[in-house]
Amino acid sequence: MNVCIDVQDVSFTYEDAPEPALHHVSLQVHEGEFLAVLGHNGSGKSTLAKLLNALYLPTEGHITVCGMDTQSDENLWKIRQKAGMIFQNPDNQLVATVVREDVAFGLENLGVPREEMIPRIDAALQAVGMSQFAEAAPHMLSGGQKQRIAIAGILAMQPSVIIADESTAMLDPSGRREVIDTATKLCREQGITVVLITHHMEECVGADRVIVLSNGAVVADGAPKQVFPQVDLLQKEGLTAPVTVRLLDALRAHGMDVPIDALTVSDCADAVAAALKK
Ligand code: ADP
Ligand code: MG
Repeated sequence: MNVCIDVQDVSFTYEDAPEPALHHVSLQVHEGEFLAVLGHNGSGKSTLAKLLNALYLPTEGHITVCGMDTQSDENLWKIRQKAGMIFQNPDNQLVATVVREDVAFGLENLGVPREEMIPRIDAALQAVGMSQFAEAAPHMLSGGQKQRIAIAGILAMQPSVIIADESTAMLDPSGRREVIDTATKLCREQGITVVLITHHMEECVGADRVIVLSNGAVVADGAPKQVFPQVDLLQKEGLTAPVTVRLLDALRAHGMDVPIDALTVSDCADAVAAALKK
């Protein structure tokens, strides 16, 4: 698999901060991968996200995005186009008074000709399931819909990777579902790499890979089935394992012979039903 983002031994220290926010982080994100990044507040998730998008530059080490070094000034706009970022607050990201204009904003900055913009905007709105809101006023939309418009704005720029930094944190459960489903669909159907930063374990169950950050370092990196059963490690990091894993863990404590890595509700139900039949 081709590497989309390569983080090589990166450290980052904020100006005047006594400690680095990231210490010697190395990781590769592959093309088309859905990577979830977990960690409690202050663990360095947003710092990492901003480094991936060249909003910050490493104090030590190197980051390449689609083969472009983030330290090189001439790559800056190309990197921002290739690695689009959505943030936490849906209201801070929408700039226009009409949805279609909002999606056009990034394209205008890129200098895309008007006749090329229209099909790109239409395709982006279609991909996030918001075509019928093209002429709507963004402030009338729900939080989940606003985040889908923010995703469409990135998508219109034909990115390789979408980085979502706690983009579901301010949404209700159905809004969260809309954003996760949209990101998953873009990853699976269009091959767009997704880096999803979140607090919600349940949002990571369908990811290809999960990393856990703690105090600016990677403390776990693997498939959800490898990372989530590490209940003690997650607890130490101030994270709660998905409810399925906690249930299986509790049943095992009662002596039931169930696996610990049945992450989805249906796999978990199958595992419990099978154990009851034994
Ligand atoms: P997370 O997104 O996981 O909550 P951050 O990347 O925002 O973590 O923060 C990592 C560390 O860097 C924390 O100790 C935080 O206090 C510090 N930090 C974040 N932003 C700044 C800043 N602008 N100036 C100084 N320190 C910062
Ligand atoms: Mg953060």
